[in-house]
Amino acid sequence: MGSPEPPPGGGSSQFDEKDGRVTAQLIDGLALSRQIRAEVGARAAALAARGRPPGLAVILVGDDPASAVYVRNKVKACHEHGLHSVLEQYDATLPQATLLERIAALNADPAIHGILVQMPLPRHIDPQQVIAAIAAHKDVDGFSVLSAGELMTGLPGLRPATPYGCMKMIESTGRAIPGRHAVVIGRSNTVGKPMALLLLQANATVTVCHSATPDLAVHTRQADIVVAAVGRRNTLTAGMVKPGAIVIDVGMNRNDAGKLCGDVDFDAVREALGPAGFITPVPGGVGPMTITMLLVNTLQAAETQA
Ligand code: NAP
Repeated sequence: MGSPEPPPGGGSSQFDEKDGRVTAQLIDGLALSRQIRAEVGARAAALAARGRPPGLAVILVGDDPASAVYVRNKVKACHEHGLHSVLEQYDATLPQATLLERIAALNADPAIHGILVQMPLPRHIDPQQVIAAIAAHKDVDGFSVLSAGELMTGLPGLRPATPYGCMKMIESTGRAIPGRHAVVIGRSNTVGKPMALLLLQANATVTVCHSATPDLAVHTRQADIVVAAVGRRNTLTAGMVKPGAIVIDVGMNRNDAGKLCGDVDFDAVREALGPAGFITPVPGGVGPMTITMLLVNTLQAAETQA
């Protein structure tokens, strides 16, 4: 039995020689990222040649080790693709008023086109006030009420990077989205809700599940596309998917051995999807795409401001 055609995103199915099973094709977030980042690099160079290199300011408050890693990766990705980036690091005791003053200064800085404040913030700082302080055209995280409203009403704007990256991964399969049934598990403002809206905008029929959904499997078994954004491993298991579906795993969890894993029981679900299905790995799936789409948003903001 031959392997199915790989999708444009660099996917491949796996033939298990031991028992002759062919499992779902992999949507490779690293390969797709490389492709998109090459375009980002070219567009950034074009702006730089006009004396307007795209600039991202990243603010980190406190010493959360995971946040420090995310921030470092974002700044590193900027440097690797010709974007100017500034990292501002502050002690956890930073007063909210000082943070808001820094954001106001960056709003007025013509060398900065995108501003990102790494979440979570220390408890004495109100994240909503901080997000609201970022100028709308520099809101590259797409978390502001205005950006959410633009997405909700179908206006152009900056889309939250994680669901935006998930859409690119779904599109990379080459499968048409209109008319498909998509099930999003999770309804956070940063992942689940914008994901559902992006799928709706792409003309999918969308079901949103959450912690009060009594029987997840009833919904996921009917889905052509499942996006799991929960933060709990093994939320999606083999008996919960339809063969041939596309499964996007946003979750970032640790297994018993301390290894990074997603919300999906990867090996079993990959097998249950069969050769016509697609699945994203963790790591190497949604994670790299999130940073890639942050670069895309910064570039888009810079091009608009230019
Ligand atoms: P969140 O704010 O905690 O939201 C989790 C959502 O899952 C909530 O809507 C919650 O429902 C729902 N949920 C919880 N238990 C459930 C269950 N048993 N069945 C169905 N739904 C359930 O998390 P988030 O920020 O959206 O992130 C979700 C996951 O994605 C986390 O693991 C996070 O680390 C990861 N993540 C990864 C990236 C990346 O770049 N790879 C980016 C962002 C997030 P309720 O609303 O009813 O509470």
